[in-house]
Amino acid sequence: MRYHIVCGPACDHAPLFKLSNSQRKRMLDRDRASVRKLRVKLRVTVRKFLKEQSKDIAAQVVAAREALNKGANDDIKRILESLDFAGWQKLLGQIGPLLENIVKDGAKQGFLQVGIERDLDRLLSLTNDFAVAYAKERGSTLITDISESTRNMIKKDIAQALESGASNDVLAAVLERGYAFSPERAEMIARTETAFADVEGNIEAYKQSGQVSGKQWITGAGCCELCDELDGKIVPLNKAFPGGRNGPPLHPNCRCDVLPVLIPKKDKTS
Ligand SMILES: [Zn+2]
Repeated sequence: MRYHIVCGPACDHAPLFKLSNSQRKRMLDRDRASVRKLRVKLRVTVRKFLKEQSKDIAAQVVAAREALNKGANDDIKRILESLDFAGWQKLLGQIGPLLENIVKDGAKQGFLQVGIERDLDRLLSLTNDFAVAYAKERGSTLITDISESTRNMIKKDIAQALESGASNDVLAAVLERGYAFSPERAEMIARTETAFADVEGNIEAYKQSGQVSGKQWITGAGCCELCDELDGKIVPLNKAFPGGRNGPPLHPNCRCDVLPVLIPKKDKTS
């Protein structure tokens, strides 16, 4: 059994792409203990944060509803627009160090994957700045993304409450129990972000290694049509794959992976 990038330990999907033996040997274990530990920490952190924020957002919705005096359907937009997610930026301080460590672990694996074992510490230090910058940038984007998607996720519940004339207490309870603040969402975010950071670390190591000319997309079985189109595609290290991604995952629960394309030995300059 091999593990796919975001499927987790129960996954035994075969990649669609026919892999040579040497490629197969180079596939990384995406569920290795080091990364699993960080993924769990990320999940627990996001889970705790969402749970805390559920009360605040529910209170904001109720206050906005009160301010509008009564619940007409066209008030939903104004309620949603009034919500303030500024406090969510503090999540960056909590997830930033985790993302950074996942990138660093990914970088280490990337070096090992292309056969570099000597001088690993020095090479790893070359990827530190990238890991720090990635964690900051991706962390901020992620927080903006999850704030905005939270707005969308709670829209239906607010609409239903306004339509049915549910009490504020009921509305608040429904929101707090919703998917937006659920353990399932925290798990999905943790899996996807771990996969992103791991692969980014790999690719940074490929760049620093001087042994790799490109990267190849490996589509997991039954992933999706968009991923099928990318199967086997090879692009230079500093270029995105068709569609704009640096590497998998393409979407939440994507089962794809990436492999380094090694520079043939005789072409190496060093
Ligand atoms: Zn995929």
